[in-house]
Amino acid sequence: MLRRDFIGISTLGVIGILSSFSMLQSKFSKDDLMGKNNPLLFGDEHKLRKEAHEAFLKMKTEALKSGFRIKVVSSYRSYAHQNKIWERKYKKFTKKGLSPINAIQKIIEYSTIPGTSRHHWGTDLDIVDGNARQPKRLLLAENFESDGPFCKFKEWMDQYANTFGFHLVYTDKKNRKGFKYEPWHYSYAPLSVPMLKEYQKLDITTELKKTELFGSSFFTESFIKQYITENILDINPKLT
Ligand SMILES: [Zn+2]
Repeated sequence: MLRRDFIGISTLGVIGILSSFSMLQSKFSKDDLMGKNNPLLFGDEHKLRKEAHEAFLKMKTEALKSGFRIKVVSSYRSYAHQNKIWERKYKKFTKKGLSPINAIQKIIEYSTIPGTSRHHWGTDLDIVDGNARQPKRLLLAENFESDGPFCKFKEWMDQYANTFGFHLVYTDKKNRKGFKYEPWHYSYAPLSVPMLKEYQKLDITTELKKTELFGSSFFTESFIKQYITENILDINPKLT
């Protein structure tokens, strides 16, 4: 009797350890990684996962001391939201006369295929300086260069963002492929690095093949392969 009790308890103990191990293993589900879950998000002006939110607030406070008021243009985006962007751009470019393939190539200069956006993760955000002059289009590389309104802010970010865990994703490194230079898009590495690792375990090719998006019948195997290698993975090495 005593022995049976002992066995019972230790079996439960083992199950407990195993289940917490498997929870760690699957901390981010496929739906989490593809923007199809509703993750717990924090922030008023922004929506980020807790750890990223806390680090961001610290950085925001520090930036303000130097006269920069970080303004968030975009943070978490769901699959549905990303699909709205995709459909809007697809319609716009095909209406202008681009073939479906050329329209897709044009979209993926700056925007992702729904289900593949880092904005789905609650770790990434697009930011500008709210204290500077606000040009009509905020997210243009030239705004962050030479005498652009956000160039001083960019200098501050170059110096300090990394100390808060934030890194530019789509850098201006020569020969980097995939998305174009985005001096406004930062990622919180302590969360997004493990998320990218989990993301790479997914069968993205199968996922993209079975989606029904505008133009998705043109997602050939070789197109998807190139998209994964260049758009998803050719990013700042600090984030891989
Ligand atoms: Zn972005």
